[in-house]
Parts: sequence; structure tokens; C-alpha cells
Amino acid sequence: MPYAQVAIPTLVHQLFTYRIPSSPFVKPGMRLIVPFRKKKLIGFCMALTAQLPSGFSEKDLKEITELKDTEPIFSEKMLRLIEWLADYYAAPIGEVCRSALPARLLQIKAGNVAKPRLKEEEHSSFHQASLKLTNQQLEAIEKLKTISKPALLHGVTGSGKTEIYLQFILEILKENKQAILLVPEISLTPQLIGRVESRLNQKIAIYHSGLSESWRHLYWEKMRKGELKVAVGTRSALFAPFPNLGAIIVDEEHDSSYKQGEGTFHYHARDAAIVRAKLEKIAVVLGSATPSLESFHNAKKGKYHYIYLSERATGASLPEISLIDLRKEKFIEGSQTLSTTLKEAISENLYRGEQTLLFLNRRGFANFLICQDCGEVFSCPNCAISLTYHKNPVSLLCHYCDYRIGIPGLCTKCQSTALKPLGQGTEALEEELQKFFPEAKVVRLDRDTSTKREHRHKVLHDMKKGKVDILLGTQIVAKGHDFPNVTLVGVILADTALHLPDFRAAERTFQILTQVAGRSGRAEKPGKVLIQTFHPEHFSLVCASTHNFETFSEQELKTREELSYPPFSRLAQIKLQSSHENKVEEAAYSLKKYLTKYMGNNIPMILGPAQAPISKVRGKYRWQLLIKAQNVNLLKHHLKQTQEFVKKHLPSQVQLQIDVDCLNMM
Ligand SMILES: [Zn+2]
Ligand SMILES: [Zn+2]
Repeated sequence: MPYAQVAIPTLVHQLFTYRIPSSPFVKPGMRLIVPFRKKKLIGFCMALTAQLPSGFSEKDLKEITELKDTEPIFSEKMLRLIEWLADYYAAPIGEVCRSALPARLLQIKAGNVAKPRLKEEEHSSFHQASLKLTNQQLEAIEKLKTISKPALLHGVTGSGKTEIYLQFILEILKENKQAILLVPEISLTPQLIGRVESRLNQKIAIYHSGLSESWRHLYWEKMRKGELKVAVGTRSALFAPFPNLGAIIVDEEHDSSYKQGEGTFHYHARDAAIVRAKLEKIAVVLGSATPSLESFHNAKKGKYHYIYLSERATGASLPEISLIDLRKEKFIEGSQTLSTTLKEAISENLYRGEQTLLFLNRRGFANFLICQDCGEVFSCPNCAISLTYHKNPVSLLCHYCDYRIGIPGLCTKCQSTALKPLGQGTEALEEELQKFFPEAKVVRLDRDTSTKREHRHKVLHDMKKGKVDILLGTQIVAKGHDFPNVTLVGVILADTALHLPDFRAAERTFQILTQVAGRSGRAEKPGKVLIQTFHPEHFSLVCASTHNFETFSEQELKTREELSYPPFSRLAQIKLQSSHENKVEEAAYSLKKYLTKYMGNNIPMILGPAQAPISKVRGKYRWQLLIKAQNVNLLKHHLKQTQEFVKKHLPSQVQLQIDVDCLNMM
């Protein structure tokens, strides 16, 4: 009589063994309802076993209450992927199962596919006059048909990677297999969906954050039956339940939005895609104009195929990039954002009837309100970060917990009235542009205005149609968009990304500058890029301005190796948090002491503990440690030790989160 090993979506890491009722037939991969701590919960059968857990007799086990499925909803390979992810990311296995399914399928009741009430989004149909691929594109497609390991497709901005993906997917479909195309949320526009559907000549399944649960569920069912053959979407599209998957493509593979940063399951969708492809024995393609150093390093070592596209598909040349030294050329009087050079370039561009894109690396009107007499900065009482000064409505706002107050009249420290908003933001820039260029149509796109997907899509559409003269915004305007009439890109201040407390700051700066510069001059007219900075000699700015990925990666990889940072080591962030300030600090130090003693002079290193840069969020104090190890197995081992220690020795008010291969150091 076998028993079922069941994963349950709670914070526990192990599987639970249940007795199987006599009549229905339980298979691994099925959903079950099981009694658990006096409740009925959904569980997932991971495996069957003839072994009782040690110390248990048959009558100690509880019995499965009910089967939710007649056939497994997780394939054998999907179960192996789930196990791998739970193990690698030190995540509760039930939580991993939960992430892989639409929420509807996690409910105890209901379960039929309800017809979505909303009609489907309108996707603009896509017409491309002629489709002539360059030799580099054709060669890349031929190469992809033969790959035996992951392929890194490194193509300069505008080199036509999307067309390569689509041609490759067509090949997969011919073999009667299915394909997944992962894209960052920002790139998932109606234009892209329209283009994919018309090129592939079929409906596709779409994953994005705004998708309703009924659509999610409907797509899931259709993919599982093989009625839909292509999934396009964000992170969780990785779990698309295709019966005969043929390829996974990860566009903009360097994008940090692929890393889940919340909750208890911190997976990286790109890395998980590589594992799924390996388990399914299928092709996986990583595409980018600015590959992550992790992927590039793997390609250099020969672990990945490397395919390089050096030319733009339209034959256009890469834009000319100039650095403007703000130490020599100050902002024009009365302006907080524009130098004369940039202002004149915008003027000329308007005169020629061409479009301009301006990029600012932060949101809000100004970063903070400062007292000019004593230097006091207003910060959030809950979260210990600076409050952002907002003009509309006039207020100070915390971007972590949404705490907000009106503008104070006096400094809380010295009672001075000399309070001044400092820094620049998209709203300030918008105001200045309207003042300098009253006749121009100026549109702003940042996180404050773009929370609505429809609004964001409309602005991007208007931009493409030439209805906008100057588009300004944050990261949202930098990525992936193809605006043929943009010939000037201005970066207001390149330095902001350089000063983040993060060992990847130089890489992030290089990536964002290359991406935003890549929006310029994509069609017939040549493009120009102006970057304002106080550090024009910094190597990531110099390399970005000369389109020199090779020198940049060489120098940055050398630094990483010297400091033993990824990709030359594995990092995990141990986050401890609690509403009791002294408990969490104490816990962090005792964990450090334990790990140090346990590891001795072993190779892994422990950094910290330190207060998190954002030391308090939603009333919880946060401390963190970093564990650096030479390889995955060592790291895993130490994470197991950490979990054991926390379970046995730390007070329950202190919560533990583990982030393996952490990307966000805040
Ligand atoms: Zn003051
Ligand atoms: Zn706050």
C-alpha cells in the first residue's frame, strides 16, 4: 500500500505523508484536499512511496480527504522543476507549486473554467511592408536550429532580435511543439502582441500583471490542451503547462524584473528557464543588447553558445553619443535639468520636426526636502527612507509604505524656514520643457503616470505615430521600444545609478545608458545621444558612450573576480525582520556567530550583519547578512544550517527570508 508525499502551500519546507483512500487512483502531480493542522487545505502529490516516515506507523498518518483532479495537472518534468526550484532557492515547496498555477486552481471549492466577463484586449494588427532579414539574422536563425546548450543572442540595439525569435518559434511550431517567450512587463505592449499574433498567424496566451484571474485560468487550460501553442509574458509564463514544449526564449535576459523579489520564493525566471529547458531537453535562447555579466561569462567559458549581431537590421548606424561634463558646463540659469548644449539640441530637433526622448533615472518632482540651514532631510517614521517631495498634490510621500504629510513650514530640528526641495524629477523637467518650448507637445511617462497599462500603451502608441515631440520619463521609456522618428536622446543625469549601494551599480549604469541610447536613430535618420554627468571619466560611461561592451565587461569582470563577487561566487542574502528592534539585531548577531563558528576558516564568507539600507518597512526592522560561497553546493549547505539555526534558536517574532542570487541589495 503506497503513501502519498504531499506539498502544502504554507511556510514549511518538507513534504507530508498521507494515507491514500482505497477507491480513487492517486498519481503524482494531482491536487488533493488534505487535513492539515485542523484545517482542510489544497496539497500537491509530489510522489508515491512505500516507506512510512521513520518513527511513524500507518495509523499515525492522516488520510487524503479528496482528489481534486482525475489526471495530474503537473507533468513529471514540471514536478522535477518544482523540486529543483524549492531546493535551489531554499523555498517552501508548496509555495513553489502555488506560484506555478493560476490562483483559481488553488481554491478548495469551484474549479470550473469560468468564462471571463471582460472581452479580450484589442491588439493592434501589425503590418510590415517588407520583411527582409539581414545575413546576420539569417545566420542566427540557422544556428539556433542546431543548438545543444543554452544560446546567448547578443545583438546591438535595433539588430532585430524579435524577428529572430519569431522565425525560430515558427520552426518549433512546424514540429508540432509549443514555445514560451518571456519578456519584461514594460515591453509587453499591444503592439508586440499584435506583431507576434500576426507573424505566427494564431492566437497566443498572454501573461502580465494586469491579467484577470479568469483569463489566466482560461489561457492555462487552453495551453494545457495544446489549443494555444505560444505563451508570451512575464516571469510566471515560465510555468506555462504545454504538453510538448519545444523552446523557451528569454528576451532582455539581463532585466532585473525576472527576479522575484517578494515573498518566500525568490526565483529568477531566466535561470529557471535554463533548468526547465534542461529537464525538457529543449532549446533555450537568452537575448539582450547588454547581456548580464553572469550570462556573458557563461558564454565566454563555453557553457553557452554565443551569437553576436553587430549590425542594426535597418542598416542604420549606432547613434553618436557625447558626454556633457556638468562640472564645466553648468545647468542653465534657473534650470535644474538642462545644460545649454542639451537645450539647443532639443531646439534643433523640434525645428527639424524630429522626436526627442529624455531619460531621468528617478521619479517624483524631487527626491527630498532639505533644510538649507542645518541639512536635515525629512524621512518616513515607519521606513527610514527619505520622503519624496511631490508637487501635485503638494506633499511629502513615502514610496515604501505610502505615509504622506503636507509640506512642513519649519525644520523639525532647527526651526528654520529655509526648506528647499532638492534634486530633479520628471515633473520638474516637464515644467521646464513647457517653459522653454511652449509650442512643443511634451508628454511624461513614469511610474506615477503609468500605473494604468492602457495609459502607458496609449502614450507609446502616440509617440510611435509622431503625435509627441518630446517624451520624458524613467526606466519605462528606456526599454525595447522602437520609435523610428526619435533622433535625439538626452540623459539628464547619468550619476544617479552609479551611486546605488550595490556591487552591480556600474553594470546597471552601462545597461541603462546603452538601452536608452539605443532608442535613437533606429530608422533612416541618424541618431544622437547626449548624456549629462558629473563623472564623465567613469569607465561605464566611457564604454557606454563608445558602444564598447567588450571593454566594459572585461574591466568589470576583472573587478568582480578580485572582489569575489558573482559571477565568480554565489551570493545569498539572509534577511531577518521583526517589529522588535533589539530582537532582530540580536538575532542577526547570534546567527553570524553561529555561522562563523560552524564554517571556521572555510571558504564561504559572511558579510554583515548590517541594518538593511531601507532599515524599516511597514513597521518591521530589517537586518541582513550576505553569504558568499565559491559554489552552489557550499551555499546550499550553509543555507540549510541557517534555516536550522533560525528554527531552533531564534524567537518566533523574528522572520527569516532567504534570497539566493539576490539582485536587489536594498
Ligand atoms: Zn534645520
Ligand atoms: Zn514609509
